[in-house]
Amino acid sequence: MGLAAAIEAKRAGLKAVVLEKGTVVHTIYRWPRETVFFSEAKNIEIGGHPFPSLGPKPTRREALQYYRRVAENEALDIRTYTEVLRIQPQAGQFTVAYRDRDGEGELESRFVLVATGYYDNPNRLGVPGEDLPHVRYGLDETLPYWKQRVVVVGGSNSAVEAALELYRGGARVTVVHHEAEIRPRVKYWLKPDFDNRVKEGSIQLLLKAQVREILPRAVVLEQEQAWHTLPADFVLIHIGYRAADGLLRAAQVAYQGDAPLLSPVYETSLRGLFVAGSAGYGSDTRTVFIENGREHARLAVGEIARRLQGCPA
Ligand SMILES: Cc1cc2nc3c(=O)[nH]c(=O)nc-3n(C[C@H](O)[C@H](O)[C@H](O)COP(=O)(O)OP(=O)(O)OC[C@H]3O[C@@H](n4cnc5c(N)ncnc54)[C@H](O)[C@@H]3O)c2cc1C
Repeated sequence: MGLAAAIEAKRAGLKAVVLEKGTVVHTIYRWPRETVFFSEAKNIEIGGHPFPSLGPKPTRREALQYYRRVAENEALDIRTYTEVLRIQPQAGQFTVAYRDRDGEGELESRFVLVATGYYDNPNRLGVPGEDLPHVRYGLDETLPYWKQRVVVVGGSNSAVEAALELYRGGARVTVVHHEAEIRPRVKYWLKPDFDNRVKEGSIQLLLKAQVREILPRAVVLEQEQAWHTLPADFVLIHIGYRAADGLLRAAQVAYQGDAPLLSPVYETSLRGLFVAGSAGYGSDTRTVFIENGREHARLAVGEIARRLQGCPA
């Protein structure tokens, strides 16, 4: 949402700087390499730039190229490898402390929009052994898992997608899910594929199963009140995410439950501090997408522009 907001700001004649701790569209860069969007290309366009895609849904690779080229064409001021450390309100403006490869620095700004997403904050199982080196959150390449016994924990899109990729990459896959069925909302082109792989025995599916402990070469499960041990060379945990909202919490914005209180234009309780995208949604990250997050950016920047009318930006 940072890019979408920066384009909106540029169109409104404002000076905006994007501080990004990784590379441009770092989150999509970190997705599994073969990811295909569930959205159609036109629904994830930003700044009115057409997104050409070869298939009905764009691929991760197409999206990386698209967003990078939009950033270039718009000549946005994006400072990559620059991590924001703190946002401090001070006398009607904000001091934004950051660290880049040359050390630490500060920027002053009248308005700040936080769009830190959720991808850095995977949900954890909270069981012993979760920090062992063979336990991972997310999948990039399948090759390291070739001929390995991989336990995938989860029952939604990312777990199903990972299980299918791993199976096709030559891994021996078991999916462990605590509910009685895989989430019915799994991408419509993945669900039948997954169901058929389970039916034919290519992927093992254990339902109503809870991971109780992870051991170096096994997972301890509780299923229907019985405990058993499942051999595992790797454990991939795909049980969702929580907002990466550490900057908001440190700035002491007001919260309701696990999400910040936001106005209809996505302003926090600190006047001038806005949020766009999943960072403002606590554990409810599933309801925010690029599709609707773009609207947060548009409304927030529209409000900033309105307040600055007649004032120098
Ligand atoms: C596999 C997968 C497939 C998806 N498919 C779709 C889809 O088809 N359609 C759709 O609409 N949505 C899809 N989504 C959801 C979509 O990716 C998110 O809703 C969207 O990326 C959220 O945007 P955001 O700007 O809030 O956060 P992000 O895109 O995660 O951006 C946050 C950025 O902030 C940076 N950052 C974090 N902390 C700091 C800091 N302290 N300082 C500086 N930079 C920082 C991160 O490096 C990152 O680049 C998918 C998600 C996943 C995981």
